Amino acid sequence: MTVDLAIIGSGGAAFAAAIAARRQHRSVVMVERGTVGGTCVNTGCVPSKALLAAAEARHVALSAAHVPGVRADAEQVAFGELIAGKDELVTDMRADKYTGLAAEHGWEILGGVGSFVDGPALHVELHDGGSRRITAEHYLVATGSHPWAPPVEGLDEVDYLTSTSAMELDALPSSMLVLGGGYVGLEQAQLFARLGTEVTVVARSRPASTEEPEISAELARIFTDEGITVHAHSQVRTVRRDGDGYVVATIESDDGSTRQLRAERLLVATGRRATTDGLGLDTVGVATDGHGSVLVDDELRTTHPRVWAAGDVTEHPQFVYVAGAHGALVVDNAFHDAGRRLDYHHLPRVTFTGPSIAAAGLTEAQAQQAGHDCETRVLPLEHVPRAIVNRDTRGLVKLVADRGTGRLLGAHVLADGAGDVIATAVYALANHMTTHDVAELWQPYLTMAEALKLAAQTFTRDITQLSCCAA
Ligand SMILES: Cc1cc2nc3c(=O)[nH]c(=O)nc-3n(C[C@H](O)[C@H](O)[C@H](O)COP(=O)(O)OP(=O)(O)OC[C@H]3O[C@@H](n4cnc5c(N)ncnc54)[C@H](O)[C@@H]3O)c2cc1C
Repeated sequence: MTVDLAIIGSGGAAFAAAIAARRQHRSVVMVERGTVGGTCVNTGCVPSKALLAAAEARHVALSAAHVPGVRADAEQVAFGELIAGKDELVTDMRADKYTGLAAEHGWEILGGVGSFVDGPALHVELHDGGSRRITAEHYLVATGSHPWAPPVEGLDEVDYLTSTSAMELDALPSSMLVLGGGYVGLEQAQLFARLGTEVTVVARSRPASTEEPEISAELARIFTDEGITVHAHSQVRTVRRDGDGYVVATIESDDGSTRQLRAERLLVATGRRATTDGLGLDTVGVATDGHGSVLVDDELRTTHPRVWAAGDVTEHPQFVYVAGAHGALVVDNAFHDAGRRLDYHHLPRVTFTGPSIAAAGLTEAQAQQAGHDCETRVLPLEHVPRAIVNRDTRGLVKLVADRGTGRLLGAHVLADGAGDVIATAVYALANHMTTHDVAELWQPYLTMAEALKLAAQTFTRDITQLSCCAA
């Protein structure tokens, strides 16, 4: 079989590339060894956010008493129904946004394991028997990433969960130990806690360690208030199962003290690594780094001129919108020599806890490292009208600006709906706006987005002296 573009993988990167190529009337074939759609729709963004939304519904009912006059309660969650509902949603979205689209745009998806052989060419071991050899003008490696677990004594013997298997459980665990304070670990921790599991988080550094320290501290406080125990600056040394089948973990904190933690289930969320094992990349001269990520230049070309890589399998940030942008860019660069590159300086990131964390641009530490003389402001949500009327002032906004020019360098939000709030900051950063510009922008009153404007105003004014509706 010979095509214009042969793609290994069928996730966000692969689909964006295939659609872009088909729009240009290029022939495409895709190879998928697992479930069509890849991580985001099957085991990542979609199931996790569906379950988080369900957990939030229960949490809102249980915490409604903070609003005078409102009485509500929530029973134990029917976990089986919840998981079945999530599965149905995933199946529908997969049919609507992935399998259906392939048929509409007209490319074939081969079920099987793909690897490179001399040529370059692809060898596909088909799931239903036999094999195929595919040659193409260009090849795209879009094989994504998989959960990575650290080398901990006993870990392989305790049947630990990953985010994938945790979201497929058939019963709600009574207690859970979560290893990892990154976004997947924090989302899963709060999800299970809000459904009724007793959750303990062990984080090697502070929770959400890539975010501003003020945000980590506030989030840790919020988790503690919700009954989630957080052991920061701690590492798990050994794990084992006791006579009752519970996991017992010995953790050591940075000060050298140790303690034992016991829980029904252990969830390991310590990061993800590129999936490149068995792909035969070295056969065709495609280089990877020490963690297996495919090395690419700014145009996403690998060390072979006709092999490209996109999404989680590269060293770039692991978000589906990055994967999608990569896929489309590869097609322009491969077939039109377009020389397109992506600008990541205003790339947003969101941790969908409640309240959620969203950020774009540089943290204060990154701005200093980059040589900026920077100025920062932190606005607690107690000054934000939307938060006040919601009777939930947990959270903050932190802005980082260049002192000399006033240019906004980074925005960091911990608030309900922070993911939507950050969109404003993305436009401001993309357009190189100053904090003065952001302070003068229209923002609708009684929205959380207004918090960005108010935070920008604090560079020149005392926000506590303003009337609540003042511009
Ligand atoms: C729990 C969780 C929550 C997340 N939430 C979000 C979120 O809210 N927002 C967000 O933007 N991102 C989120 N992400 C990240 C997002 O899912 C990924 O960045 C994105 O899906 C990566 O897309 P991709 O196309 O690079 O790879 P993938 O979607 O992983 O696709 C790779 C595919 O390649 C296949 N494959 C691998 N090797 C072979 C082979 N040899 N032959 C054939 N097929 C092969 C795999 O089976 C897989 O289907 C989340 C991830 C997780 C785990």
